[in-house]
Amino acid sequence: MKKAIIFDLDNTIYPVNSIADNLFAQLFGVLDQNAATINNLHPDTVERIKEEMTRRPFQYIVDKYELDEAIAEQMLDELRNMTYDLPMQPFEDYHHLKDIPLDKFLVTTGFPKLQNSKIERLGIKGDFKEIIIVDPDLSKQTKKDVMADIMARYDYQPEELFVIGDDPDSEIKAALSLDIDTFLFDPKDTYPDAPTTHKSRHLKDVLAILG
Ligand SMILES: [Mg+2]
Repeated sequence: MKKAIIFDLDNTIYPVNSIADNLFAQLFGVLDQNAATINNLHPDTVERIKEEMTRRPFQYIVDKYELDEAIAEQMLDELRNMTYDLPMQPFEDYHHLKDIPLDKFLVTTGFPKLQNSKIERLGIKGDFKEIIIVDPDLSKQTKKDVMADIMARYDYQPEELFVIGDDPDSEIKAALSLDIDTFLFDPKDTYPDAPTTHKSRHLKDVLAILG
């Protein structure tokens, strides 16, 4: 008998690509400004950095392109203070899941200001018993640590929990290692062989599993 669901945020509740252009535009502005001022980055390099920034962790970019420390610090500062202030919509299917009568938790990793602004914009705050944002800047806590902590604090057994996410290497792996059932939301069938209890291209299929 399931008692609670733990949701991931990015690409599980809403599609990141729906906000990427606007979000990264702010950050790219800092890069453009600095590349021109300091004048040590070739325009082609700047374009390559921008492309990689949409899909790689920031620190990876800093190391790979040996970004000037001042630029890196300023961009990191921008990231830490960035919010998303335009309208956002959850996936259509999410509206079915939020009404499942179980405790719901949101566990996400990222810069808290940005994650909080997205939660605000999506209007989903009230859907959760608790929202936990792990700031990789400040904490070594993993999703597995957070899940174990939820289990301890609310006295849930592994079989009473259900984890929904889009990343086999993150929340899905963490949950499986704690013997928690998982649902891998994989809309493009990117991970046909990834270990998971359940898997679907459609978020709505959660309803049949928990029903
Ligand atoms: Mg995700």
